[in-house]
Amino acid sequence: MHRSGEIWMAVILGIILVGYIGFRIIWRIVGGPNRRYYQRTKTYAKGTVQQGLYNQSEIKALVKLAHGDQYCGNTSLDEVASKQVYRMSEKNIPNVVGPEGVLHLYNESTFMTSAMVEAAAKYWNLLAGETIVEIVDQHRLCDEVIHDGKSSRRVLGGQTYHGRGLLFYPDNWRISHLSKKDRHNWQEAVLIHEIGHGLGIPHLGGGPFGNNAINDKRATVEFMGPWSVGLEKSPRQNEFGVHSTAVDGAALALAGLSWQTPRRLASWVLTNPQAVVIYNDGQITSTI
Ligand SMILES: [Zn+2]
Repeated sequence: MHRSGEIWMAVILGIILVGYIGFRIIWRIVGGPNRRYYQRTKTYAKGTVQQGLYNQSEIKALVKLAHGDQYCGNTSLDEVASKQVYRMSEKNIPNVVGPEGVLHLYNESTFMTSAMVEAAAKYWNLLAGETIVEIVDQHRLCDEVIHDGKSSRRVLGGQTYHGRGLLFYPDNWRISHLSKKDRHNWQEAVLIHEIGHGLGIPHLGGGPFGNNAINDKRATVEFMGPWSVGLEKSPRQNEFGVHSTAVDGAALALAGLSWQTPRRLASWVLTNPQAVVIYNDGQITSTI
């Protein structure tokens, strides 16, 4: 190579290097910290399931429970048994659980009080039979942040998976006409629902996306479906709080196999599928 060619090469590499460093500095000042603030653990979505934590006949039993019927369960979870993958419509189902196998949450929401957030963690831990959700008191210890925001879409809350954490939209809730108990229970049902997404559980309202119930505008007793109380269509059972089902237990057991550190969870569902965890106006009872 000629000498002038080498100089030009050095100049071009220098420009690329300075540009890259500049980009990193601007990213840190403007975008980086904000993006990482609400979701500190990267979304994990490998779509694989750990073999050996449950044997194949147990996996088949879990899949059968999670399959559900027209308005509960999710038929995509069948593929955990048939193809050994954790996918929905060819897409890997994501979670925000870090390498410790526990979802650490930091609460900045005022809509969801710390008592409600602690209750939701307890609810999931009872369902799992192990500690899988922990509320941390320091931001630096969390996988993601629970906080309030605004949305022009008519949604109550969301698990974003892409850096915005676990969000609730207080202005979108139309529950002021309900009793205090019903308001608390509805909020808690949605909080438990969004944490469920963080754990890698998809909708469980029937069909291949778990969305049959919501698409047919049906309300269900299934909190991973369209749970409601106090509306004409709301199931009577929801007046007595948020009840778990065997579908939730089985879906949690399958989700646990898809984490970056897979865990055997909710094995009670194989022997005692009638067992239930109930949240009612701040009180939690469990027969697990
Ligand atoms: Zn959802």
